[in-house]
Amino acid sequence: MNTTTQPLITIAIDGYSSSGKSSMARQLAKTIGYRYIDSGAMYRAVTLYAMQHNMISDDLAIDEQSLIAALPEIDIDFQVDGERQYTLLNGVNVESDIRSMAVSNRVSPVSAIPAGRHALVKMQQQMGQQKGIVMDGRDIGTTVFPDAEMKVFVNASAQTRAQRRLSELIEKGVATTYEEVLSNVINRDHIDETRAESPLRKADDAIALDNSTMSIEEQNQWLLNLYNDTIANL
Ligand code: C5P
Repeated sequence: MNTTTQPLITIAIDGYSSSGKSSMARQLAKTIGYRYIDSGAMYRAVTLYAMQHNMISDDLAIDEQSLIAALPEIDIDFQVDGERQYTLLNGVNVESDIRSMAVSNRVSPVSAIPAGRHALVKMQQQMGQQKGIVMDGRDIGTTVFPDAEMKVFVNASAQTRAQRRLSELIEKGVATTYEEVLSNVINRDHIDETRAESPLRKADDAIALDNSTMSIEEQNQWLLNLYNDTIANL
């Protein structure tokens, strides 16, 4: 809960895969008492649903019609447990499944389907109706909350991002290699940037941050400073 008398705003944090935007966004939300939503987890949950229902073939062809027809059956929610947040797919905790390489390798083609995006964007806009929200993703500042008072666009070199992602995956016990993670990061960025429907791009009024050489503490402080400046200049 926001315990200060500060006005509530909407904070959009977009950027490239594994740029550290989720960690920064989560920490800022915690510090200022806002709700945090990881929109990427929602696209990952839809992808997991499609995999569970055999809607994606081995050569990554997607049965779009079946997936679109199933959208009303897909319920995505978040459960907060102390410091941690879990993604629920139709009531089941899928937090660890949606972080697998199998999902990472399929999520960008699934995310390019316009009807799926429309359904998730609508959900995300409902979640942000009361403001007091930090949401991270690819199109939050351009499509989901184009009027957000604070917008950030995060990037770092592909190598730095792959290394960070690899460390996270190893910590979670996921078996993978640097090469596999690097190629996944580059491939996802390419699909995300070139899709027709709300592609990954910096909103004109977003502040760009390249965090390649910043520590986590420096990134968190940078974001908090920006929040304080934004509030002071409303
Ligand atoms: O943020 P994360 O890397 O977990 O997102 C996984 C994928 O979900 C992205 O590569 C992208 O294809 C998709 N995504 C999206 N729009 C968002 C958030 C994520 O298309 N707002």
